Amino acid sequence: MSKTPLSSLGEFKLIDHLTRNVKLYNNRTIKGIGDDTAAIEGDNDITLLTKDLLIEGVHFNIMYTPLKHLGYKSIVVNLSDIYAMNGHPTHVIAGIAVSSRYTVEALEEIYEGMMLACEKYKIDLVGGDTTSSASGLFISVTALGKVSKDRITYRSGARPNDLICVTGNLGGAYAGLLILEREKEVFKANPQSQPDLSQFAYVLERQLKPEARKDIVDLLMEKNIIPTSMIDISDGLASEILHICKSSNRGTVIYEEKLPIDVQTATIAHEFKIDPTTFALNGGEEYELLFTIDQKDYDKIKGVEEITVIGHITENPSQTDLISTSGNVITLRAQGWDSFRKDN
Ligand code: ADP
Ligand code: MG
Repeated sequence: MSKTPLSSLGEFKLIDHLTRNVKLYNNRTIKGIGDDTAAIEGDNDITLLTKDLLIEGVHFNIMYTPLKHLGYKSIVVNLSDIYAMNGHPTHVIAGIAVSSRYTVEALEEIYEGMMLACEKYKIDLVGGDTTSSASGLFISVTALGKVSKDRITYRSGARPNDLICVTGNLGGAYAGLLILEREKEVFKANPQSQPDLSQFAYVLERQLKPEARKDIVDLLMEKNIIPTSMIDISDGLASEILHICKSSNRGTVIYEEKLPIDVQTATIAHEFKIDPTTFALNGGEEYELLFTIDQKDYDKIKGVEEITVIGHITENPSQTDLISTSGNVITLRAQGWDSFRKDN
């Protein structure tokens, strides 16, 4: 039998490959694999179900990740997927595997962070599993949520001329990661060094302690808007836009000059001699929402500071254009996070 290296497929192709023969046996399962969460029809509303894993050395480096933040983030990244379906999370269960290198106090810190997230988002931690690991720390969280049948939003509903909206600003979490990696190297070279990171507080928080956009889901409800499609930005804007286009079988045009980028993010990009647009397009772990709305809803979001219109959906699925500030047309490509890529 031939042996295929994981790197030959990449994360998304691997998921497609492994799940190509999955069959659904319950007629209440209205969405299985392929969106931010699964969707299971109940009598009154729809139950949403999702899982995310955080692995030491892959998703976080224990040298610079405060454990309380890590616990907080492990919950938030899951809630983000529930909000991306236009729903509200209600429950989480948490699995941890930990090596003997960790202490009880360390795990207590992780749980403090988890409980803080539960309190903030008013969700219940109702179970989990605990085991040892041969090396390192693994956190697996499963989140449950609900959404009414008339408000559920998939990746697949975008239609030509819909406006593409993004919340908050982009590239900050990646900027924070670069700063942490740089300071780690400085520290390794000189363990006596005490870096002053206060000037980077915003982007460090974006990386270490992100928030999920409950406020936006509430606002959409308040303003009587149902997005035509939605996804959360965990792998980078370009990758997520392409997911929406592929699921909806549509194309896109977005405008570089519209991309929302915080000044601190832009300053760091320049320091690293990287175009801030690259941060915004490919930086992962933003946990912002990317969604499309009908043009008739534009007036309702026009004045909202936290929502930026960055482009629109087009008929032709093979059109995935970024119009640069200087007017050039560049084809969008997904270069976001991929756990199986060789360069990670
Ligand atoms: P997200 O970035 O929103 O968490 P992913 O890209 O991780 O979504 O996953 C895409 C889809 O594939 C989701 O529906 C997810 O549940 C599913 N999926 C991912 N890994 C697996 C797996 N090992 N087995 C089955 N389904 C999976
Ligand atoms: Mg998602």
